[in-house]
Amino acid sequence: MYPTDLDPAFISHAPGYWSDEATEKWDDHRWQLRNRVDSLADLELRLKLTDEERAGVLLAGTKLAMSITPHFFNLIDRDDPDCPIRRQVIPRIEEGWNAPEELNDPCGEDSHMPVPGLVHRYPDRVLFLVTDRCASYCRYCTRSRVVSGVGEQHLETQWEPAFKYLEQHTEIRDVLLSGGDPLLFSDDRLDKILTRLRAIPHLQFIRIGSRIPIFLPQRITPELCTMLNKHHPLFISIHANHPRELTLEVRDALGRLADAGIPLGNQSVMLRGVNDSVDVQKALVQKLLMCRVKPYYLYQCDLINGSSHLRTPVAEGVAIIEGLRGHTTGYAIPQFVIDGPGGGGKIPINPNYVVDTASGKITLRNFEGEIFEYPDPTPIPAADLELLHQEALSRSV
Ligand SMILES: *Cc1c(COP(=O)(O)O)cnc(C)c1O
Repeated sequence: MYPTDLDPAFISHAPGYWSDEATEKWDDHRWQLRNRVDSLADLELRLKLTDEERAGVLLAGTKLAMSITPHFFNLIDRDDPDCPIRRQVIPRIEEGWNAPEELNDPCGEDSHMPVPGLVHRYPDRVLFLVTDRCASYCRYCTRSRVVSGVGEQHLETQWEPAFKYLEQHTEIRDVLLSGGDPLLFSDDRLDKILTRLRAIPHLQFIRIGSRIPIFLPQRITPELCTMLNKHHPLFISIHANHPRELTLEVRDALGRLADAGIPLGNQSVMLRGVNDSVDVQKALVQKLLMCRVKPYYLYQCDLINGSSHLRTPVAEGVAIIEGLRGHTTGYAIPQFVIDGPGGGGKIPINPNYVVDTASGKITLRNFEGEIFEYPDPTPIPAADLELLHQEALSRSV
């Protein structure tokens, strides 16, 4: 049904199979949010579920809610039970099983919160969790313990204490707004938050982490872009995992953000059956460049409860980076990272291009497997320097 996954062409999926009302209201982000697929009945109306999915939907109700915007739902190939879009947003029975290596808070965020909602792990920057809601819910959500509002734990961001902390800690120069998805807030509310942050003189750099450009490109209105444009330097990190997610509508939404002067990066996650091949990853990163988005991080999937069916061996991620480096534009290559379980922060993982380090030289291989030696600099002998001095003197007379 979608022979174009590896094709660089951008295609529209709107409004596809939906109602007559949808054709008229499709571009209205409020309509998209009101009409999200969020119940088993809703889902079965539109898709023939497998037994594993039906059980998954029933189990998800008390862990991480299901919710899928019509826009994103339309990217699903209904005839393909292994559709890479489907695996990201439709719960499966495997989510109910916790592997022994899995954790409730895989990145140890709760123990690094000086104020509820503010994660301060690195010396100069903080992660500010401003909401627990998203336009749609990724089944491998690293914050599923608090996101979507149906689990036992809740995010209780303390706004005033968080702003006070940021004001008092002058070592913080970088604030990352995340959640949940900050772009679910109204323009006015976001404007107030950004204005408040911009009033803190030591905050040089602000960025927003959001999957809304992918789940709900209709939300990226000209008005939103005009408002964001007032708060530079402002970056946005988006989250796309598969080339099919980059539709015509998404490309236009990203273009509006880029035209507002916002540098865009992408953070993707290695997911089994979604993007665990060089071909898919290459198509994804090349299409991102065409949307003026720099692939930033490729994450090894966090050890989140119920994620074993979506996680891949680390070696596969390394092999993907190896398949990209040298084979496509350098700008297109993300940094592969593992967020150290329990709170280690992001740790870069790279293919090994260093074959040997003997004294005085390094032996390397390139992307084609050819071997190269790069020697350390040779010290200039005193006698040679002396000769040069004499020659210089002879020329000065
Ligand atoms: C990812 C993350 C950041 C930002 O890290 P960068 O490498 O600067 O993108 C900051 N704080 C926390 C807790 C994070 O998880």
